[in-house]
Amino acid sequence: MIVIDEKRIFDEIQRRRPVSVALNGPDGILPKIQETASNIMERFGIPAYVLADSCFGTCDMNTNGAKVLGAEILFHIGHSINSTSFGDNIVLVDAFDNISFENIARKCVEEFRGKTISLVTDSQHLHEVDKVRTILEQGGVKVNVGRGKGQLNDGQVFGCEFYPVMETRDSVDANIFLGQSNFHAAGVALSTSRPTYVLDPYFNEIRDVTEFAQTLQKKSILAVYKAAEAESFGIIVGLKEGQFSKMAALKFKKELEALGKKVQLFALTDITDDKLRNLKGVDAFIQVACPRISTDNHFHKPVLSTPQANALVKILKKENVESIFQIPHWL
Ligand code: SF4
Repeated sequence: MIVIDEKRIFDEIQRRRPVSVALNGPDGILPKIQETASNIMERFGIPAYVLADSCFGTCDMNTNGAKVLGAEILFHIGHSINSTSFGDNIVLVDAFDNISFENIARKCVEEFRGKTISLVTDSQHLHEVDKVRTILEQGGVKVNVGRGKGQLNDGQVFGCEFYPVMETRDSVDANIFLGQSNFHAAGVALSTSRPTYVLDPYFNEIRDVTEFAQTLQKKSILAVYKAAEAESFGIIVGLKEGQFSKMAALKFKKELEALGKKVQLFALTDITDDKLRNLKGVDAFIQVACPRISTDNHFHKPVLSTPQANALVKILKKENVESIFQIPHWL
């Protein structure tokens, strides 16, 4: 069950006495965020708005929504990073999953005894890393936990940022991801090129996501080669604050035009196939917002992420492409 650190929220409201607040977080914990918003309204008698658009990370906080509503504090819940606030008006609040990993960790010992693994997770299960590490080590599994960097804590990954597992990849037989997210684990597998398993405490199963990650990789590489045949490109700037990268878009425009390609520029908040179907005269797209939009979704034309677009430019220049995703940060 997800537990939101409401005490932190209540303390902050008590201290600052805002006239109204807003809350948001990932889709999966929206029902819990609704409960917290109701608790705030009951306790403090102020409006507490739930920003209910999809929210995929600290790159996607919808601060503009909070501003438009006149909310003095935006509580961004469930994407823990190694800081607790962004400026004065955004407060980052932990939400952790209180499910125990004890049983599944013991099962893992049976499969990985004598092996060396890198232990990694997402923000909701970070508090379990030390406990699982102890169980695995006592059972004879050698455990590495890579160091955090940028916004990442030790042993933590985002969907596009993998510093801890990149640090350990040459010294481990496999990555073990704590939680249920095939999405994060597949990113770990892709960036490290190491067998990667999800330790899922809800289904009490150890899930191999290596093949799933390879399927994503094949699809992504195919899109790059299809885009290499394109004559006209649409380059899309994402309008979510943390994913805004106008300079990268203009860099790709310049590079493609120098290679004789036609380029149009677009800007979108949500980059979906339906939206792209409205745009004419474009053979292939490049989007410089979230890389996982390209790798994990289906589009009717190639839609390349930043690392794929870097590979495309190299192919068009007839340079070698060694790897696309084996980098610690896909932006
Ligand atoms: S840009 Fe990275 S951190 Fe943000 S939603 Fe995409 S994968 Fe997650």
